[in-house]
Amino acid sequence: MPDRLRLLCVLAHPDDEALGAGGILAKYAAEGVETHLITATLGERGRIGNERPGAEVAAPIRRRELERAAAILGVSHVELLGYRDGELDRADPAEATARLAAQVRRRRPDVVVTFGADGAYGHVDHVAVSQWTGAALIAAADPSFRAPAGVDLPSSPHRASKLYWLVWSPAASAAYERAFGELRHRADGAERRAVSWPDWSITTVLDATAHWRTVWTAVQCHESQLAGREGLGELSEERHVELWGRPTLYRVWSLVNGGREVESDLFAGVRDAAGASAGARP
Ligand SMILES: [Zn+2]
Repeated sequence: MPDRLRLLCVLAHPDDEALGAGGILAKYAAEGVETHLITATLGERGRIGNERPGAEVAAPIRRRELERAAAILGVSHVELLGYRDGELDRADPAEATARLAAQVRRRRPDVVVTFGADGAYGHVDHVAVSQWTGAALIAAADPSFRAPAGVDLPSSPHRASKLYWLVWSPAASAAYERAFGELRHRADGAERRAVSWPDWSITTVLDATAHWRTVWTAVQCHESQLAGREGLGELSEERHVELWGRPTLYRVWSLVNGGREVESDLFAGVRDAAGASAGARP
């Protein structure tokens, strides 16, 4: 049995995997890559329809929605960390980093994807998972790293080959906000808005156009989040492809490639290093 290429997405809330990384997960699962998802919270303080019913009601609903969406996207394994929604920046970073490092050592990804430093629109949970993921990849690779008490850290280190951030070009941000309305997040008494990255800074553009229907089906699993967004169902195929079909990313670091040429594959350099093709390596 050949060892398959492995992709890990580290995100904050149920629906981030579909709305933020759906095209990426659907494309690579379809190509035979083993895909793993870590979601830090259950989004339990968010809306359910037009209400905020509290964690006890919301958590199981959002968990079910996440599990259905992940299954549609072909995710091999979903791990829920169970941190408090909206408060990731107040969790103990040493503990969170070690728990993520333990997951990295268990899942052994070649490529890791998380939010950018900007948290897409300054969302404090997105920013926190981005910071934790960067630190966790260093810890996972370091044989001398010691986890705090209570974290079960596998002893065998693992070094991922590449780290990516989810980023949006000005055109992609505009398309997203046309469909979903303005993205806003309040923190420290100020309003944060969507951050778009200049086209020149985007290192990687994927062709997931063949998978837009899969992503859209996964997005619709998050029914509790779609109140007031009924218009999404009326969008043309072209608009759906624009939303889900062309994921854009920033390659934060890579041990296997580099340069200014825009990549069309997260595993560029990894496949060559492994002498592999079509999602498998010998
Ligand atoms: Zn989110």
